[in-house]
Amino acid sequence: MTKSFFDKLCCPFDKSELSIQVFTEKENNVIHEGLITCPTCKRLYPIIHGVPIMIPDAYREAQLEKPFFIKWNDKLSLEAKASLMLEE
Ligand SMILES: [Zn+2]
Repeated sequence: MTKSFFDKLCCPFDKSELSIQVFTEKENNVIHEGLITCPTCKRLYPIIHGVPIMIPDAYREAQLEKPFFIKWNDKLSLEAKASLMLEE
């Protein structure tokens, strides 16, 4: 996912503008791993292997996302960690 693509995204649930934290980047401003957060509904959308996971809650697989959140735990904000605890 590129940064210009991110600029076009909004939260699929409430259409809010999103924030992004970039963890790893590839050439040409391609975001490989990162975390998108919605300031309104506090949802977290991980970017895994360049793909933002922005699907309905019912289809999200906490087990598949878990390794990502463990890997980047040190980089998560307290707010993000609080959202994760709510989801569990
Ligand atoms: Zn939202």
